[in-house]
Amino acid sequence: MKLTAIGTAGSFPGPDSAASCYLVETEEEKPTRIVLDLGSGALSPLQRVVDPDSLSAVVLSHLHPDHCMDMTGLYVRHCYDPKFFNGNVSDTGSIRTRTPVFAPPGAEERLTRAYHTDPGRSPVAEGGDRSDLTHAFEFIDLDHRSSHRIGSLTVESFLVDHPVEAYALRITDERGKVITYSGDSDECDNLVEAAHGADVFLCEAAFQEERDTARGIHLTGKRAGRVATNAEVRSLVLTHIPSWTDRCIVRGEAAREFRGPIELAKPEASWTA
Ligand SMILES: [Zn+2]
Ligand SMILES: [Zn+2]
Repeated sequence: MKLTAIGTAGSFPGPDSAASCYLVETEEEKPTRIVLDLGSGALSPLQRVVDPDSLSAVVLSHLHPDHCMDMTGLYVRHCYDPKFFNGNVSDTGSIRTRTPVFAPPGAEERLTRAYHTDPGRSPVAEGGDRSDLTHAFEFIDLDHRSSHRIGSLTVESFLVDHPVEAYALRITDERGKVITYSGDSDECDNLVEAAHGADVFLCEAAFQEERDTARGIHLTGKRAGRVATNAEVRSLVLTHIPSWTDRCIVRGEAAREFRGPIELAKPEASWTA
């Protein structure tokens, strides 16, 4: 399977990248295509790489805006594409098949609030748009150690250490190859378990040793490298580095802890497992 970076900026879109978004796809005749996170600004570059109509599912690691906010744009695209929309705002029921969205509990309510506003005095919107997203998306809750089959891929979720409910995602293909995505997390046993033996470990490293001392939020380069070593991964790809941080410093920290290959993620880079 192939992993492609869509948005790699940490915490907010940077000058060179949207916030978190990655595409995992199989190399079959009818590929399985899963988007991992759809953060602020990511819907734009996603469309340069893949037709959003061809997605098998979206999986959201957690509900911070830099990981989910462009779901509002995907909703509009799904509902009002003239290929499917009959022109009547009170009837968006003609939509194509709903896209499954695997996410922490509460995603439907959070994204509904992000998209819908009180119609106020608008004569068009009043009573028109249904105040839910379920005609575009089918929401499925993630849980610790839940396992979901999506096309030919298996996605397992592991609760990790972040200020909100957040999951690391372990994706296994039919040949047993593994890609693990950390989501946002500090160092913890569940993250090591999620990444164990992974062919590609896509790991956040938003913090820098000595400068960023808060715990329970993000990994430093050093802690990401230590997780990679403890999990015995084959390769490490560092991501979610904010624009105010020197990427070389974070990579240097990781390289002192992990002896295998290390890369820095950037938009449209890809890796094969
Ligand atoms: Zn984040
Ligand atoms: Zn977060």
